Amino acid sequence: MKDDDGLNESFFLEALVDTTDAIFTAVREDGTLVWVNSAFSRVTGFSKEEAVGRKIWEFRCPVDLEEGERHFQQASSARDGRRFESRWLTRDGRTLDLSWSTRSLPNPDGSLHLRIGTAIDVTAERQTERRAKYLDDLLDRSMDAIILISAERNIIYCNRSACDLYRMGRDEMLGKPNEMFIPESEAERMMKFGAEIRKDRKPVEIETWRRRGDGVLVPIHLRVTPLIDEDGSISAFASVSFDISDRLALEERERQAMSRARLLADLVESLSDPVFHIRTDGTIGYVNSACAQVYGYTPEEMLDKSSSMLRPDDKVALVSKYVREVLASSDPLVLETEALHKDGTRIPVELRSKSLRDQNGELLGLGSVVRDLTMQKELEAELRRAADTDALTGLANRHHFGRVADVEVRRAARYRHGLAVIACDIDHFKGVNDTYGHAGGDRALVAFAQAASACMRRPIDLLGRVGGEEFAVLLPETDLSGAVRVAERIRAAIERVQVNHDGQEFGLTVSLGVSLFRDGETSLEAALKRADDALYLAKNKGRNRVESARE
Ligand code: GH3
Ligand code: MG
Ligand code: MG
Repeated sequence: MKDDDGLNESFFLEALVDTTDAIFTAVREDGTLVWVNSAFSRVTGFSKEEAVGRKIWEFRCPVDLEEGERHFQQASSARDGRRFESRWLTRDGRTLDLSWSTRSLPNPDGSLHLRIGTAIDVTAERQTERRAKYLDDLLDRSMDAIILISAERNIIYCNRSACDLYRMGRDEMLGKPNEMFIPESEAERMMKFGAEIRKDRKPVEIETWRRRGDGVLVPIHLRVTPLIDEDGSISAFASVSFDISDRLALEERERQAMSRARLLADLVESLSDPVFHIRTDGTIGYVNSACAQVYGYTPEEMLDKSSSMLRPDDKVALVSKYVREVLASSDPLVLETEALHKDGTRIPVELRSKSLRDQNGELLGLGSVVRDLTMQKELEAELRRAADTDALTGLANRHHFGRVADVEVRRAARYRHGLAVIACDIDHFKGVNDTYGHAGGDRALVAFAQAASACMRRPIDLLGRVGGEEFAVLLPETDLSGAVRVAERIRAAIERVQVNHDGQEFGLTVSLGVSLFRDGETSLEAALKRADDALYLAKNKGRNRVESARE
């Protein structure tokens, strides 16, 4: 009966030990497994036959036999019961977290008999814990402020960034109402925002303001996600926010930069001078509207094309050299050259260019302001002409006549050419003024100039107005008789002139004196004096005639 009872008891115990989820092991003093229950096989995947006879630490993970044995020796030398956790590796390679309770069974003589261990598989719990820890670390590492808010709107979790953003310790925040961060000015908006989340049950974003723990208002971007329970009710809100004051400041700076850029662009557009951006590869990156006016191309015809299209072939080398100099310099450089209009005409221009670099010092090409010198060149030519010409008659003035005379005197002296001069004075001009007025006199002077000019046969002959109604003719490479012929031609032409003034017509006559430049003279002065003397003679002899100086 007793035996039976004993048998039954051990049978019952064994059955119990085999049904439980707990692992049971019996280990000898040297660590050899002598018995395992079926839970051992279920959990580790090793059958009883595979397990028995092996050292218990061989099942550990990572397998470090020395360390495992040391641990076993420590545990078993304690004799009393011990609790610890160890990590094992299953037969198919999974890790197991086992929570052990071990105790020794001593022999009656006190020596160690067996060490009995029971273990339960805590892998799932440890994993959850590890995951929670990992998640906690992860959330703490996030740059975003993360706050978990209960359905009652109390803070139930906050990460480190939330503490940083809201300037508050974790302990100060946990359990407090989330409302404490919402400034009065945003309260109504946030109420609507909250209502929207509860209604739509979807994540919602907003840009709003929060009052930090230190009282300072900070602009934030906020995203709130409702966490829905299995029964469909909202159990909490996850709020993710970040400070956008930097972004707002940046946007403000960008806005200012943009408006400045727009202002500059408008300014450049309104310039009447062409403005170009030429890239480092020589293509055109920007043109203002004045470019189209000066060059004749539309902006589209110029953009991205080579800037050489705007230069005459014979100026390409010069301008290329200039461009290289500009790119190598940080100062603006100026070049006067010629540009090419779409219609092929050349435009005198002044280029004022400077190399352009971005904030990082990267070369972007050059900016060029072009001044169209056409008008200026025309004006200069006009001024030069005006300086040389008599405004009323368009003939060479006294100054210009004198300069040409100086040149011709030197040429005549060097090449021993003849050089003749004719002095002309209109007859009784006072009478013309008296009869027809000063305007009538001027009309007569113009008529004289036209008729006398028509008598000049060679381009090198020069007729000038050297006084009020006094004229002179310079005839290079001409002898006396030739000069007398020219003088006679003028006299005869003037005789035929009819001046129209105020519906009246009147005629003119002129007296002329001819003289030659003589060897050894250094200016025309003496020759002119002799021509004047001859003219005086002509006047005395009755006017409307030619006299020549005695040579
Ligand atoms: P003479 O035949 O002796 O030359 O008689 P004249 O009246 O022409 O006398 P003189 O040459 O000495 O006088 C020149 C006059 O011409 C003086 C002035 O009244 C007039 N005169 C000079 N320059 C101008 C001018 O630019 N316009 C007009 N309308 N008259 C001028
Ligand atoms: Mg006179
Ligand atoms: Mg006169």
